[in-house]
Amino acid sequence: MEALLQSIEKKVRPLIGQGKVADYIPALAQVDPNQFGIAIYSNDGALYQAGQADTEFSIQSISKVFSLTLAIKHYGEDMWQRVGREPSGNPFNSLVQLEYESGVPRNPFINAGALVISDMNQSRFAAPHYAMREFIRRLADNPNITSDKLVSDSEYEFRARNASMAYLMKAFGNFDNDVEAVLHNYFDNCAVRMNCIDLAKAFSFLANKGFSQHSNEQILSPRETTQVNGLLATSGLYDEAGNFAYRVGLPGKSGVGGGIIAIVPNQFSMCVWSPELNKSGNSLAGMAALEALSESIGWSVFG
Ligand code: GLN
Repeated sequence: MEALLQSIEKKVRPLIGQGKVADYIPALAQVDPNQFGIAIYSNDGALYQAGQADTEFSIQSISKVFSLTLAIKHYGEDMWQRVGREPSGNPFNSLVQLEYESGVPRNPFINAGALVISDMNQSRFAAPHYAMREFIRRLADNPNITSDKLVSDSEYEFRARNASMAYLMKAFGNFDNDVEAVLHNYFDNCAVRMNCIDLAKAFSFLANKGFSQHSNEQILSPRETTQVNGLLATSGLYDEAGNFAYRVGLPGKSGVGGGIIAIVPNQFSMCVWSPELNKSGNSLAGMAALEALSESIGWSVFG
C-alpha cells in the first residue's frame, strides 16, 4: 500500500502550481503551497502514509463533520427541521438559497448549514469549542490538538459573509443564540490544526459502523453512520459533489486548508492534503490523488 501511495504522490505533485491557496484571510494565504500528504487507516488498525502526512494544517470545513456528529448524538432526527439534506449545487459560502428557503440551509456542510449546527451545539454546551476540541482529541487519540488563534481571529475579522448568513437565518427564526458568539465558536472549530494521520484516525468511526477503536466508544449508531456517509457523498464537496462522485466515488469532506477526508465504508478512513485549491475550493492535488487511489484499488462505492 505504501508503495502505491508514494507512486500517487509522485504522479500528483506536478499539479501543484495549477491551483490557488485560500486567500480570503491573510493567515491562510501564507501557507507554503508546495506540500502534499496522505494517510490511510484501516479498520484493523494499520496505518499507511506518504509525503507530509504528519504536517499539521488548518482543517477548516472538515470540522463540520465533527460538529454534525456532536449534534446528531444530542438532537437525533429533530435536527432535520432546521437544516436540510439536499446538495446545494452552489458554492460553500453562498447565501442565495437561504432567502428562498426561509432560512433553512440545504445541508450541514455548506457554511449556512454548519452555522445552524454550531448554533445547536451552542445551546447544548457551556463551552462549545472546548467540548468539540475534547471530542476531536479523543477521536484522533491525540491530546495535543489545538486551534490556531491567529486563523480564528482573522476569520472573525473577515466574517462579513458568514455573519450575514447567520443574521439572515436569525431573521427567519432559525438561529437561537447570539450570532457573534456562535461565529467565534464556528471559527475556532475551523481553525483546529491536525495532520493527515490525526484525521484518518479521527474519522475511523465512519468506516467502522460508528465505532471508534481508540476511544473504545460507539460514536454513532451503524444506521446514523450510513446516513452521515450518505450526506458526505451527496454534499461533502459542495458544488463539486457530483464531480467527486464521478472521479472518486466515496463519501468525503473537504476544507479550504486543502485537506480532504474520504471513507471506504467498512474498510478504511483516509485523509489527503495539499493546500492549493481548485475553483470550488477543494484541494486540486488531493482530488487527483483520491481519484488515482480509488481507481487503482476499485474503491468507488458505485461498483
Ligand atoms: N472557515 C471557512 C469559512 O467559513 C471554511 C470554509 C471551507 O473550508 N470550505 O469560510
